[in-house]
Amino acid sequence: MQKINLKGFDLNELRDFAESINEKPFRGDQIFSWLYNKGVNSFDEMSNLSKDLKEKLHERARIGQLKLITKQQSTKDQSMKYLFQLEDDSQIESVLMFDDNRATLCISTQVGCAIDCKFCATGMMGLNRHLTPGEIIDQVLTTRKLSGQKVTNVVCMGMGEPFHNYDNLMKACELLSDELGPNLAKRHIVVSTSGLIPKIYRFADENHKYRLAISLNATTDEIRSRIMPLNKKWPITELIKAAKYYTKKSDQPVTIEYVLMDKLTDSLEDAKRLKNIVKGLYCKINLIPYNATLGEFKRPEEKRIMQFYEQMRDLNTPVTIRWSKGDDIDAGCGQLAAKA
Ligand code: SAH
Ligand code: SF4
Repeated sequence: MQKINLKGFDLNELRDFAESINEKPFRGDQIFSWLYNKGVNSFDEMSNLSKDLKEKLHERARIGQLKLITKQQSTKDQSMKYLFQLEDDSQIESVLMFDDNRATLCISTQVGCAIDCKFCATGMMGLNRHLTPGEIIDQVLTTRKLSGQKVTNVVCMGMGEPFHNYDNLMKACELLSDELGPNLAKRHIVVSTSGLIPKIYRFADENHKYRLAISLNATTDEIRSRIMPLNKKWPITELIKAAKYYTKKSDQPVTIEYVLMDKLTDSLEDAKRLKNIVKGLYCKINLIPYNATLGEFKRPEEKRIMQFYEQMRDLNTPVTIRWSKGDDIDAGCGQLAAKA
């Protein structure tokens, strides 16, 4: 008999499972807490379960887990990149970063990505498959254990397009924010999308409290379509309309991510156009200097980055520059899978 992988099951599913093996539903609650709060990976460690029940669990079920292949620490900023192997031998990466009192984990949601952005190492891999809810949440559980650090924030900005794996992602976010599980504040979970417009509307309509970030990355449809082919289907005007819908529904700002690529997206005209595009949008702008991949693009010199930033400053909106962490170990935005 194939054993059922319990990691990724929510509370109701664990209660149902407990009943299916002739146990009281509250056994499901206990297993939930062991899996997601304490993060144990074996039934033997679940000390409040009877020997009898543990035997049944061994017979019928298992606890899937990520296998650590390598971890690399940045010498610049202490951030850590973890390479994990999944049960089908495919590989994903997660990056743990530290600032102030926060430990932010950047997680992957897919093996590879189908969106094919030309500047992104993950995009160059193509899509292998979606991650399961268990594999998504296990990145938090495993890095928490490996680093001995409580993960305070999660950003879905690793490998993959989160909204392309919408249902699994939402289930994982529910588990991550469950009080009886890792108990992350919903506002400390950020979902970043390249702009799958129907999913932005769905996310808004479902009233999720996770924060939303949108990768704009260009100020004309011509350039955006060239570097992000999905723009041909979902162009900038439609994207901003969807972003406005989300901010009205949620009463939260959206983060607009904008990758600065030398002589492509970083001119002063771009800065002016960007200001125009976000006019009337409740947002924060996050400028991301391009990190090297195998692509044809270049990172602007620091002077150009600062000029762009200065040009944006008269906007009534916070503008920040994301100096990516861990770029010396290819852990910066867009670099995941560069060497895997
Ligand atoms: N698929 C999602 C989330 C993962 S990418 C998305 O695209 O939004 C996370 C962020 O990294 C995105 O804003 C993306 O535009 C940016 N990014 C991708 N490649 C990059 C690179 N080479 N340098 C800097 N940022 C990059
Ligand atoms: Fe996928 Fe995001 Fe990379 Fe585009 S930038 S290829 S959507 S991971």
